Amino acid sequence: MGKKRTLSGLLTKNKLLLVFFVVSTIVVSIMAPYKSYLMQWLIDSSSKEEALKYLIYGIAIVGISHLSEYACRKSYCKIATSSIAHVRDCIFLNNFDSNVENGSSESSGDTLSLLTNDLKLIMDEYYMSIFNIVLWGGMGLVAVCMIASISPALMVLSLIMTLLPIIIPRLMSKRMSESRKLYSTDMAKYTGKADELIRGFEALMTSNGKKYYCDCHQIASRRVFESEYKMRDTTNLAFIFTSLATWIPSIAILVGGVLLVFEGKITIGYLITANSLTNFVIAPLRSASTAYVSLRSVSSIKKKVEEAMNREIKPSGTKHIEKIGTISLKNLSFTYPDSTIPALNHITYSIKDGGKIALVGPSGCGKSTMLKLLFNYFDNYTGNIMINSDELREITRSSYYQRVTMIPQKPYVFTDTVYNNLCLYQQYSKEEINDAIERAGLNDFISSYPEGLETMLTEGGDNLSGGQIQRIALARALLQHSELILVDEATSSLDVEITRAIMNRILDLDCTVVVVTHDVFGDYMDRFDQIIYLEDGSIKEQGDFKHLKELEGRFAKLYDGLVL
Ligand code: ADP
Ligand code: MG
Repeated sequence: MGKKRTLSGLLTKNKLLLVFFVVSTIVVSIMAPYKSYLMQWLIDSSSKEEALKYLIYGIAIVGISHLSEYACRKSYCKIATSSIAHVRDCIFLNNFDSNVENGSSESSGDTLSLLTNDLKLIMDEYYMSIFNIVLWGGMGLVAVCMIASISPALMVLSLIMTLLPIIIPRLMSKRMSESRKLYSTDMAKYTGKADELIRGFEALMTSNGKKYYCDCHQIASRRVFESEYKMRDTTNLAFIFTSLATWIPSIAILVGGVLLVFEGKITIGYLITANSLTNFVIAPLRSASTAYVSLRSVSSIKKKVEEAMNREIKPSGTKHIEKIGTISLKNLSFTYPDSTIPALNHITYSIKDGGKIALVGPSGCGKSTMLKLLFNYFDNYTGNIMINSDELREITRSSYYQRVTMIPQKPYVFTDTVYNNLCLYQQYSKEEINDAIERAGLNDFISSYPEGLETMLTEGGDNLSGGQIQRIALARALLQHSELILVDEATSSLDVEITRAIMNRILDLDCTVVVVTHDVFGDYMDRFDQIIYLEDGSIKEQGDFKHLKELEGRFAKLYDGLVL
């Protein structure tokens, strides 16, 4: 495992840019307060010529100060934005490398919220706070030294007075941190809910679900509104307290300076310069202190982002497999992490190389879970899934996924051409593509478009029928030369004729096929080597179609029920 990646560590990745930032920050920290001396030079100059000379000198300082400030802001901006881009890449890639469970759409709400809302807070409140602390802190310290050179007494007074605007925001920091954390959690929940409602919009619309749609959204939106309001109100309160705490010190320093002038210790020119310099002590140190509070307030979000960046990817197995031959499930049991009831119970059966298996049974009996386990979705099962003589957990994910394809109920269609949707961004020969198109039964569909394979498809395949999407998924599996194809009720939304055509095509393949189906009366049922009938996560009956019918057990009842 490599070194732990931190958000602060990312800032030092580009060393050259970092050096540029440090140098320009030092220049601006000196030049910005140094401008204050212009007042003293002008007021205390002995002739017009001397005043003019100082004026030109002053203009040069102002120019350098602003140029270096731009350079320091620009370089930091580059450092921070590229760090955020790096975090984004890192979280996204981590997702792909971890097991299917983390990368799948089921966890998309949290991931999306992390990649958008949380990273925005990290940019605004964490990275920009570090910048403000460095810039304003540096400027404040230089100004303190300059005041000390005018009058040590004034410096002591200005430092004491600066404590006020520094301490007050820190007192607010815990409250702000809590309000930010709450906002982040509520926003993640809102994003997840909104995503779910948008995806389920069609279902709700047809089931007169407008009330549920509106109520659900309103509850989630209300919660996020309340936590956002609370977060912003806490910021307002901190701002008001800090502003009050700034006003008191500037008056105190002016009074102290006036007394020194009366005592003849400093000139009016120096009083004005010292007064101007105090602006470079109080305001910058206040900004640095406020930035520190912001920085602390996002500590929990920082932790969350860093955890996502460093999320330990469960190592995939180390055994590379050359072929998926016999698959044997031995005493396989599995319980979902948030459940106490096992979804699968002591399952034992074997699938021979090239075997055709149907999983049937009532809804919730564990059919999809079985396919997910075969697709290496979870590895915390008990018992064994043996691929030849190797336990699935010990096989490298890459070698396994090269050989397995899952055809879900609604395969994903990318906003891209038919060609890219078939090849999924891999290279195949023209012959291979034509063969897959032919065997998946896509010929008529593709030739009906003038642009053929270059026809653009829309996201989610909105411009395709269910059957066409299934055929695209089948063609993908054929192109990948999959040795094991897992089909999860892929045809349940299609009409009987198309279902039969697609199922027969799948059963024609010489690879191993495991199909979850409700359609037990299809003419293809007797083509399965084994039909496994599940109930409550356990195998109740198994055998070929003829055998199960003759058994006159649960499968036969299901069959008769559907036939009737
Ligand atoms: P089927 O595909 O046969 O309809 P599933 O395999 O989807 O059934 O589900 C089997 C059991 O596991 C059900 O009781 C279901 O409620 C439960 N289950 C499915 N997915 C999850 C999940 N992600 N978390 C917790 N329980 C789940
Ligand atoms: Mg299912």
